[in-house]
Amino acid sequence: MAETIVMKFGGSSVADADRIKAAAKRIVARREAGYRVVAVLSARGDTTDELLEMASEVTDAPDPREMDMLLSTGERISCALAAMAIRDLGHDAISLTGSQAGIVTDTSHTRARILDVKADRIEQALDEGNITLVAGFQGVSTAKDVTTLGRGGSDTTAVAVAAALGAPVCEIYTDVAGVFSADPRIVPEARKLSTVSFEEMLEMASSGAKVLQLRSVEYARNHGVRIHCRSSFEEADGTIVVTEEETVEHPLITAVTHSTAEARVTLIGVPDRPGVAGAVFGALAEAGVNVDMIIQNEPESEGAKADMSFTVATEDLRDARTALDGVVEAEGIERIAWNEAMGKVSVVGAGMRSHPGVAATVFKTLGEQEINIEMISTSPIKISCVVSADRVADAVRALHSAFELDSAPAEGEEAHGAAR
Ligand code: ADP
Ligand code: ASP
Ligand code: MG
Repeated sequence: MAETIVMKFGGSSVADADRIKAAAKRIVARREAGYRVVAVLSARGDTTDELLEMASEVTDAPDPREMDMLLSTGERISCALAAMAIRDLGHDAISLTGSQAGIVTDTSHTRARILDVKADRIEQALDEGNITLVAGFQGVSTAKDVTTLGRGGSDTTAVAVAAALGAPVCEIYTDVAGVFSADPRIVPEARKLSTVSFEEMLEMASSGAKVLQLRSVEYARNHGVRIHCRSSFEEADGTIVVTEEETVEHPLITAVTHSTAEARVTLIGVPDRPGVAGAVFGALAEAGVNVDMIIQNEPESEGAKADMSFTVATEDLRDARTALDGVVEAEGIERIAWNEAMGKVSVVGAGMRSHPGVAATVFKTLGEQEINIEMISTSPIKISCVVSADRVADAVRALHSAFELDSAPAEGEEAHGAAR
């Protein structure tokens, strides 16, 4: 039987009629080359943001189940239109919602996890000779409700479908030429990586490189799926996510990543007794809020009160506030301060395991730029610094050149494949 290939197109790759037709052509070319083709599509352009905006015009606290009913429509539109465009090119095509495609998730609305892919309907559509379009970013919960998978979730749909079908590769088509040594929109000199290891890509995705959703990389690693992240506007190969043994380049630092959507929460006057931190972070965990960095100041004297700061993603801020309200009262914490204008810059590289001095270079470089470091966290292959959101771009550029990641663009050529 012919091999099955999964192709995923992101929002800007299906943003308007011309781009949908171009994606349809690319999909059809694969079919004509003899593959069975499943294409996973995102919502067009800014559709998901517009849907979120629509909800906020109606209510301050949208019901999560209804939010998912709303958000899941964006991907359906793309798939139906692409199926029409493919039919015009003379091929059979059928579009499926996440639920029809058998994407089964848990019940956490707006950030659901895929539990299983029951791929028989996709298999049947392929057996009947169809190019099969699957709406990304959505599934059906074990309680039979429509769910969505969190921002960027179509990447995870594509990887999960590729795993279920045993596809040799999951191609993620996007608006840049692959995974770069920094976001090419901030650092035009950033270099395209021909390969990147799962470990590094996981750290990159979790520290803000939204080119691949974190969960898609986790899923690919756990299920042995090969991801090829590449441009939807040009033919050249992009970046393949591989095991560490397969990586071809071994620089000290592989990439500089960033995020400008961090909020710092400071609990002031926290009683110095066991159990308070457990209550605070337990409440946040229960609300599904991911806490990133945590710092606690030692109280000056035994029994005195301490301050505690941590960061959360800005999009989780509302849930964090709701979760903390009760705890502050119950635990006798004096007050909470919020700073929503924080960002984070990180350097990621497997080479750092065996080379001391990376942290020193990071701090020196940011110091020279007069960028104040508010919080620091490390893993064996990552160093992250929380800085003010308005200094993030400067910090990324300075670190990218301090670690000698800049590349001179070839003559007459742009340094990157960004096109929007
Ligand atoms: P899609 O709509 O195709 O899913 P996304 O907007 O989610 O695309 O992800 C692609 C974007 O990720 C790029 O336009 C780029 O600005 C951003 N990005 C951030 N960090 C990186 C990086 N290290 N390499 C490539 N792209 C990056
Ligand atoms: N449309 C969704 C989003 O904008 C999912 C995706 O594009 O992957 O986050
Ligand atoms: Mg994306």
